[in-house]
Amino acid sequence: MAFALVFAVAAGACAPPNPPEEAGRVNVVTTIGMIRDVVENVGGEHVRVVGLMGPGVDPHLYKASEGDVRRLFRADVIFYGGLHLEARMGEVLEEMGGRTRVRAVTRGIPVDQLLTPPEFQGAHDPHVWFDVRLWAYTVDVIAQTLAEEDPAHAADYYANAQRYHTRMAALDQYVRARAAQVPRDKRVLITAHDAFNYFGRAYGFQVRGLQGISTASEAGTADVQALAEFIATRRIPAVFVESSIPRRTIEAVQEAVRARGFDVRIGGSLYSDAMGNPGTSAGTYEGMVRHNIDTITGALLREP
Ligand code: ZN
Repeated sequence: MAFALVFAVAAGACAPPNPPEEAGRVNVVTTIGMIRDVVENVGGEHVRVVGLMGPGVDPHLYKASEGDVRRLFRADVIFYGGLHLEARMGEVLEEMGGRTRVRAVTRGIPVDQLLTPPEFQGAHDPHVWFDVRLWAYTVDVIAQTLAEEDPAHAADYYANAQRYHTRMAALDQYVRARAAQVPRDKRVLITAHDAFNYFGRAYGFQVRGLQGISTASEAGTADVQALAEFIATRRIPAVFVESSIPRRTIEAVQEAVRARGFDVRIGGSLYSDAMGNPGTSAGTYEGMVRHNIDTITGALLREP
């Protein structure tokens, strides 16, 4: 500790390019919080992680600010989701690729496990974190990349990755057990945008989203009416809102359902493309996943 302090002061005197607290650690910049969380778990004390996208931020629409570009320039390693998740950061990430280690964390997922829904027009669905087993592939990509950047601590990165894998397996089991409590015909998940296809496939839910893959397009009136008809006919007890999506979209559906003589509740708020505030229970990947499955099963199991 004393050494670190002396070093920091000395380094400060000759104007280093980075703040003193970054000295000796791998400087990592990530896009979405779910990636930051995995990097923190795998990197431990050897990394310093800056996440560009905080709670409530929509990665489909996010553009790098000037400050972000400065952070990206200073980074030793940059992790992003890929599969066009960060649609408006493609150019800047590509540019950084020429000078920094830049990795899409989804690159380790076998291609045959990726979804290609028709509405994505041939592209893969980027929302892989909703299937815990798929998200676990990112752990290895991150460990390997950190080990390449910082070979001295490679053993630590791989050991941390192993430990985190154990927790991911337990998390996956938890989601499966909770989902199994809901009768199969009641496992219908309706949310504002098509983020939950991997969740549905992994845990046996039928998923209906109101908007397309990207939140860039507003849901049309016809979509609202079609979804309202489905909800009223199937007597689905609850629909869900998302932390990174305006509430008004799903409220429009609720009204259209009411016009058909059925009442659908808002079952709660789900974390889709961003985690909760740091320090809260949904402020980690594991906490976010638990929050979502608890909210979904709680609302679908509640009596009308
Ligand atoms: Zn999304």
